[in-house]
Amino acid sequence: SDPLRDPALCREVLGRIEEALQGRSLRFMEVCGTHTVALFRSGVHSLLPSQVVHLTGPGCPVCVTHESEVAAYLELAGRDGVVIATFGDLMRVPGPGGASLKQAVAEGARVEVVYSPFDALAVAKANPGDKVVFLGIGFETTAPTVAATLRVAKAEGLSNFLVMPFHKLVPPALDVLLADPEMSVEGFMLPGHVSAIIGTAPYAPLAEKYRIPSVVAGFEPLDLLQAILLMAEMKRQDKPRVVNNYKRVVSDEGNPTARAIVEEVYRPCDALWRGIGSIPGSGLAMADAYKAHDAFEVLGVELRESPPLPGCRCGEVLKGKMPPDKCPLFAKACTPANPVGPCMVSTEGSCAAYFKYQLDL
Ligand code: SF4
Repeated sequence: SDPLRDPALCREVLGRIEEALQGRSLRFMEVCGTHTVALFRSGVHSLLPSQVVHLTGPGCPVCVTHESEVAAYLELAGRDGVVIATFGDLMRVPGPGGASLKQAVAEGARVEVVYSPFDALAVAKANPGDKVVFLGIGFETTAPTVAATLRVAKAEGLSNFLVMPFHKLVPPALDVLLADPEMSVEGFMLPGHVSAIIGTAPYAPLAEKYRIPSVVAGFEPLDLLQAILLMAEMKRQDKPRVVNNYKRVVSDEGNPTARAIVEEVYRPCDALWRGIGSIPGSGLAMADAYKAHDAFEVLGVELRESPPLPGCRCGEVLKGKMPPDKCPLFAKACTPANPVGPCMVSTEGSCAAYFKYQLDL
């Protein structure tokens, strides 16, 4: 059997977590939607000692897409001669007034759901008279594939393939969260997939500046528990640092090839995060050599101020300040079948995870 799922090993680590804590609390945050879901699905969340508090973070790329960004792509979806190509989980994300891509389709917009940005290239080839706009949502994990697609589009002279670069970078967001005086995080469970690209070095200044135990973690039950144990031990020893506990996937250097292609196609920029606002250096804009594929540039789109969704507390949920089930709309006006905010739409959203796994407890 898989040792990473071995109940006896998991029980042993749970016991060691209690020992390491010596009755003290550990408020840890995960910053990866896959961790959110893994903590619940594995049952680890319900096994944790009561003094271990799990805070959800801004680790769901769909959820952190800002209202203004949603408004911008919805505006494009309504234009003649534009086909939007997107991953499916954006279809139901509500924008201003509750509008969504799904609703736009009902009103005649042309939207193609794709499984990879390369599929969007095929859409562009099949629709030479239209501008095909791929919505570049995602963290450091997704950006290299979108960048590789742009490289192919440029090489092939596929001028009707455009991208709206809405990518977000994780370390600058962690910096902003930790700088918030109301923030009470005592440990970070760092994302596995993002770290596979960026490596561990970008987290080190944060661990040092804020003295925060930080562990790159995998997604199996033992991975999750070991990460919590490592955070608890670092807290007890008062020796915060970055530990890579997912070495079977993440090398400390990350993936330099993936980073190189991102550096060729994009340049860092400030980016808007839902619930957090503008974070310096946390986004990727198109580099000059790729401006001909920048939907903002080619189609003259701008990000305009857009109000937050009425009643939705996604902003607080994404900052770990409110557990999803404390939102007054949770499981009442807001359910996965009828989501009010993006955190209930995305399968990796904290509200959707709480709804799916917490309500049954
Ligand atoms: Fe927003 Fe719904 Fe989550 Fe409340 S439960 S924060 S309304 S997504």
